[in-house]
Parts: sequence; structure tokens; C-alpha cells
Amino acid sequence: MAKKYEGCAVGIDLGTTYSCVAVWQEHLNRVEIIHNDQGNNTTPSCVAFTGHERMIGDAARNQAATNPENTVFDAKRLIGRKYSDEIVQKDKMLWPFKVITGANDKPMIVVKYKGEEKQLCAEEVSSMVLGKMREIAEAFLEKPVKNAVVTVPAYFNDSQRKATIDAGVIAGLNVIRIICEPTAAAIAYGLDRRNSCVEERNIFIFDLGGGTFDVSLLTIKDKNYHVKATAGNSHLGGEDIDNRMVKYFVEEFKRKNKVDISGNPRALRRLRTACERAKRTLSSAITVTVEVDALFQGIDFYSSMTRARFEEINLELFQECMETVKRCLTDAKMKKSSVHDVVLVGGSSRIPKVQQLLQDFFNGKDLCKSINPDEAVAYGAAVQAALLSEGIKNVPDLVLLDVTPLSLGIKLQGDVMSVVIPRNTTIPVKRTEVYKTVMDNQFGTQICVYEGERTRASDNNLLGFFTLSGFPRAPRGHPVDVTFVIDENGILFVSAEEKTTGNKNKITITNDKDRLSTEEVERMIQEAKIFKVEDEKFLRKAKTKNDLDYCIYRIRKALEKADINSTICSKEKEEIWSAINRATDLLDEKNEQDDIIVFEDCLKELQSILERV
Ligand code: AMP
Repeated sequence: MAKKYEGCAVGIDLGTTYSCVAVWQEHLNRVEIIHNDQGNNTTPSCVAFTGHERMIGDAARNQAATNPENTVFDAKRLIGRKYSDEIVQKDKMLWPFKVITGANDKPMIVVKYKGEEKQLCAEEVSSMVLGKMREIAEAFLEKPVKNAVVTVPAYFNDSQRKATIDAGVIAGLNVIRIICEPTAAAIAYGLDRRNSCVEERNIFIFDLGGGTFDVSLLTIKDKNYHVKATAGNSHLGGEDIDNRMVKYFVEEFKRKNKVDISGNPRALRRLRTACERAKRTLSSAITVTVEVDALFQGIDFYSSMTRARFEEINLELFQECMETVKRCLTDAKMKKSSVHDVVLVGGSSRIPKVQQLLQDFFNGKDLCKSINPDEAVAYGAAVQAALLSEGIKNVPDLVLLDVTPLSLGIKLQGDVMSVVIPRNTTIPVKRTEVYKTVMDNQFGTQICVYEGERTRASDNNLLGFFTLSGFPRAPRGHPVDVTFVIDENGILFVSAEEKTTGNKNKITITNDKDRLSTEEVERMIQEAKIFKVEDEKFLRKAKTKNDLDYCIYRIRKALEKADINSTICSKEKEEIWSAINRATDLLDEKNEQDDIIVFEDCLKELQSILERV
């Protein structure tokens, strides 16, 4: 029986490009997708900084073209990765914002906020997006939201999962569970088809989003959701497709106009936005025009793309998706004919070529498009959140059995990877392996923990290491027990024990150097609070200025009327005009440093005048 949490809990799909929040509504007996202040069900995972404010979501994205260097997106592509990671190096070339290396090879995003340079790690940016999703939920539910189930790509590794939990902590959210995106989507699908899942059904989830690609094969029977295998690529999605289009048009622009725009962040940002729009259009149209006025050096960009050309430049990516589909079925040891339903999830699964390749692979099987590809993940997370919450009634009971996406093991002599938990093992899981010392009188050993599928340990991803020492004098072959535990969030804990002495050592890879330390998380929580206070201050000031502007307008109108009726004496009129002029000057003032109190006092003065005239 899982632990139950008190307080309101929501499900958050923290996407690369868009995020979505949902909640189980007891009185409606269903999940509700929560719209944001713009009325949209998804919110751009985008944060922007300017000389005087921080923006998150639609507001941030809307100003991206005019402030590209300080508009941060794609944090999910950075989270849990090292700066020297080949993928980070490649992405960095395409982002208009600056990324530098921080302590322990951690990538840091550099922005200018209120005139000062600020360095942010991916966890902090993601925490801002999570905080925004929480605010959206709180505004809708009209009560505080404490807990959240956050989804991650099934193919996220250990450090990426932990970093996502850290982002939740910085946002002041209690992340009660991390679940995999395709599994969450399967919940949405299973509940939608509740009546037809009485017999065991094999469901294949194909989830192609903005930045990640996951496939999962599950069997659903009654309330049991059992993941059989998962595969994917935590760096493949709609953004890669956009990148290819951008590259194509940059070349075309160079050919036609003999100028290279690739070093200009503003031009690139505007072209990227146009490409993303064109890509969406090509999911329904056969051809699209792409237009950007004065793209670079005053030159207008005007071009077009056919669906055939679009498919040609992206075919390699689409084929990569199909290879992953094949691998998942092989891992699950299941024939494609045994799959009952193929379910499409993620915005990029709308691309016709992707659908066609997938349908061909499954020998012409109809693809299920009945669930909303943008909302299904948050939907499933909301059900899980309700199930983990204390006292919520009528939640459909279900049992989730997920798997670990990557093999986990330790390095043996000769750089050999010895797998303790193979990929696609059902979690939570605990496995113990007995290893032998390799030398006579060996005093201790170093346990190096890796994840990955390569036979050479160093070709895999090193998660952490620790030493166990104090062994008794003994010939080689002396046993040491190594235990791996993976919890329900997919997070690994490793321990080792020498039985005769009872010497033990362990790592919760939680203390891994790549991860934020408790002090760093605490500092970021404090900073997040400061950001929030500053955001509120900015909003208060913006509202006061607005009210002031309106007040001036109303007094002017009242004065016009008074002039006609001659109801105000000239001395008083003079005083009123002088107050209006002071207020107008204050509003016109370019210097934004003015204290909010000055604006509020001025507003009070004008409001009292308004009462008199
Ligand atoms: P998600 O991460 O699931 O929100 O997916 C976002 C991605 O889906 C973005 O890269 C979008 O550009 C892409 N997308 C959304 N709608 C469409 C569409 N109609 N055709 C192609 N791609 C789309």
C-alpha cells in the first residue's frame, strides 16, 4: 500500500516545449485539464528576463523575438546533463541564450536580469516553469497546491530524474512521485477505454514530443498497468525537426542573398518560430509558405516548403523513431501482431509521415488518436496524484508497474560492465549480486556504478562510486555482496557489504557530485522566493501605473465637463492640473527605478481629486 499524502495534489507534464497541469475533480468524477491565464491548456516551458521583470510561459514566449538572449527554453534538454556532453555542445550552437560551464562540469545558463548577469542551472529554470504550473492550478482551484506527480520521459536516466525532483523542491513543491510520460498516457488511454480493457490488451504508446521520444509497451488488464518494455531517445523531438528546417532555410537565405544569418540570435529566433508554425501547417496542408519580414539586414524572407521536401529533410529522424519502435518490441519479446492498440501521444505524433511509417510497421493497423496528444500525460499524472492523496473519493483504482529504462551495474576488473539490474526490469526492485575479490588479502574495493547497455563499463554513464574497505585477510575469491535498489520513482540506491566483518558502505547516488547539494537547493529556494517577491512587486507597480493612467483620463474628462458647466474655481483647477502633470511626468519617466510608494501616493492623491470633481 503506497503512502498517502495530505493536501491538494496535481499532475504536471513538464515538457520540453510546453507544460500541462491537470487535477482529479472529485465532484465531477473525472480529470480536469487546467487552463492558464490566457485560456490555453498548455503553457510554453519558457522563462524570460528583462531589465525589470521575469516572465514565465506565454508572456515569455511572446517576447522571445525581441529579447532572444534572455529568453530561456529547452531546459529539459539540459537537465541532468554535463556541459561537456556532446548533445549539450551541439544544442548550445542553436540556442540564442548563452550556456557556460559551471562547477563540476554543470551547464549554466547566463541571462541579464535587472541589468545584472545571472547564472541559472537547468533545475532552476525548470523550477520556475513548475512554479508557474502550480500558480495556474492554484488560481483555478482557489486553494494552495502542495503536492505534485511530475512526469519524465521514460528514457530519462537516473541523474535526469533526480534533477527533475530537485526542480520540484526549488519550486516549493512536494514531488510525491515521478512517473514516465508514456505510462501516464497509457493511464489516460486505459481509463478512456475502461470497458474494453477487461480482457488483457497489449498497448503500444508512441510518444513523440517537443524534445524527447519514448515508446512503451504495456499490458492492461482490469486495473493493472504493466509496462513490459520501454525505449526511446531523451533528445529527439519536434525541436530537432524545427532545427532541420531552420538549417535548410538558413542555407537558402545564404544562397539567395549572400548573407549568413546563423550568428544572429534574433533572426534565428524569428525564423525558428516561422518554421515551427510551418511544420504544424504541413501536418494538414501539402505545401506552406514561410514569410519573415526584414529577417536580416532589412531583407525580407519569403519561401515555401512542400510536405515532400519536409519529409525528405527529416526522414533520418523519422527512421530513427522506427528503429526505436523495433527495439522496444524485441525487448518485450512480443510480435507486432500481438499489439492490440497503437496509441499516439505528443504533439509531433501528428506528423503524417510519422503516422504512415508507424502504421506501415504495424502492417496497416489503425492508429488510436482518440486521446488528446498534448494532454494525455498530464491526465494520467493527475490520476496518479489523486491515488496517492489522502481521502480523495472515486478515483479509478489502478496498479502501475513500470520498468527501468537502462541497465544498471558495476565495473569489474578489465573495464567490464557487470549488469545487476537489466533494462526493462519491473520497479521497484531489489537485487543482490555476490562479487569476488581478485587478489589475495585484498583490503578493500571500489564500487563504480554505471548505467547503459555497452559491455565496456567506461562506455556507459558513470553514476557514482564508493569504497568498501576493512576486509579480513583472505585468499582471492572472498565474497562481497552488492545490492541495488530502485524505488518507485526509478531512483537508484546502491550498497555493498562484506559479510564476515559486517563492514558496509552505500551510496544513495543522491549525493552524487552532479546533483545539487542541500545548501545549493536551499539557496535556490531562497532565490525563488526573492524572484516571486520581485515578480509580485512588478505586477503591483504595473497595476498602479495602469490605475494612475486611467485616473488621469477620468479627471481630464471630468475637467472637460466642469469647464462647460463652470463648476470648479480657477485656483482649484490649477491645483488639479498641476497634480495631473506630476502624475503624467511620473508615468512618462524613462527611469524605472522609482519606488512603488511614489506611484501609490500619486494614485491616492488623484483618486481623492477624482472624488471631488
Ligand atoms: P509536446 O512536447 O507533446 O507538447 O509536443 C510539442 C511539439 O509538438 C512541438 O515541437 C510542436 O511543434 C509539435 N507539434 C504540435 N502540433 C503539431 C502538428 N500539428 N504537427 C507537427 N508538430 C506539432
